[in-house]
Formats: sequence, C-alpha cells, structure tokens
Amino acid sequence: MSATSTIVAIDGPAGAGKSTIAKALAKRLELDYLDTGAMYRAVTHAAIERGVPLDDAVAVGEVARGITILVTDGRTCVDGVDVSDLIRGTIVTSGVSTVAANSEVRRVMRDLQRAWGDERPGGVIEGRDIGTIVFPDATLKVYLTASPRVRAQRRVGQVGGDLEETERSIVERDHKDSSRSDSPLVTSADSVVVDTSDRSVDEVVEEIVTLVEGRHGSERA
Ligand code: C5P
Repeated sequence: MSATSTIVAIDGPAGAGKSTIAKALAKRLELDYLDTGAMYRAVTHAAIERGVPLDDAVAVGEVARGITILVTDGRTCVDGVDVSDLIRGTIVTSGVSTVAANSEVRRVMRDLQRAWGDERPGGVIEGRDIGTIVFPDATLKVYLTASPRVRAQRRVGQVGGDLEETERSIVERDHKDSSRSDSPLVTSADSVVVDTSDRSVDEVVEEIVTLVEGRHGSERA
C-alpha cells in the first residue's frame, strides 16, 4: 500500500457481519471491496475437485500456486470458472479452516491480497488476519464480533439449517481459526473492537465511517 492509500481492515469470526458491513462501508467510502475468505474457499474447492486430501500440505500448496483466483463484484472464479455458489456449500465450509492453516496457501493468498491493495487507491478488505498480518499499516483496523448464538441465528436466517448445529460448527471453526500457528484470528492492540450483537448494520457502518474520517483528520493535522 502507498502512503496515501486508504485500507480498512475488517477482521473477525464467522457470522459477525463482516461481509454485509464491509460491502456497505466500501460503497459509502467509494472504495473497492475484497472478501479474502472467498479466496481460501476457492483454494479449498479446487483441492477437493482435484481429489487432493486437504491435510496434504505440500499438494494443497501446489494447488494454491497453480490456480488463478478472481474475486470481484460478489463472484469468485477459479481459472475462469464461476465457483461462487459451490464455495459456500457445507463441504467447502467444513474443510476451509484446514486449508487456511497451511502456511504455503497463506503465503500465496497474502501476496495476492497485497497486490490487490497496491493496484488501487485503497479498499475495504475483510478476513481474519488483514489488520494483523496482510496490511499491518492499514488506515483503520476493525475487529467485528458477536456472540456465537447471534452469529448462528444470522447464518440460519441467511441460508437455513439447524440453529444448534450451526452454532456448533461456527464455534469449531472459530477455534481452528484462532488456534492455528500461522496468522491466527486475534485482535491486535491497535484494532477497534465492535460488537455487532445488538446493533444494526447502518449503525456499525456509520461508526466505522466516522473512525476512518478521524484517521484522515489526524493524518492531516
Ligand atoms: O470469511 P469466511 O467465513 O468466508 O472465511 C472462510 C475461512 O477462510 C475462515 O474460516 C478461515 O479459515 C479462512 N480465512 C483466513 N484468513 C482470512 C480469511 C479467511 O484464514 N483472511
């Protein structure tokens, strides 16, 4: 990122409202939006499709290096094929944390994400390690969270399913994402923690816009 670019990092666990809030925020700030979770999902899907066991770190790393991932306008393509719906299915969702713990996969994704940031005047980027690892100098780092029950309720509201089962799988994915050794999901001392449990999307977006404007104000001061 250049000294003048505006990078807003939105990290947090599954179902905290990252995608909805990050998209709305990008629109408000007239910046591009990148969903980095879709990239890890794309690698997971590509490995499954090729019959590569997800715990074969070397082979999955090769898959990550060998494919072209394009995440744009809410669609995700791998080697020109639209996999947007497939990457949201339960098979990919239950395997993605294993793939995301693979250091070679993370290295490849990190390079792509930094290149994405370098190519534009800024962006709103959501994920798990955006403020901590990918863009440690981001203009603003937000850590969005909500209780597991609220997150599960939102997921069930969006895609259906059993509430207890959804909550269990969310807690399991949180645990895997937070306990891995490479780039775990953690808050950093310089991130603003926002609990979205009892707040509307508009309220949270307004709060973040005000924070971004404050950062620009303090840069100019
Ligand atoms: O955001 P989403 O739930 O689609 O992310 C899917 C998975 O991708 C996460 O559970 C996590 O394992 C991984 N991920 C990651 N780092 C990111 C974004 C996502 O490890 N920056």
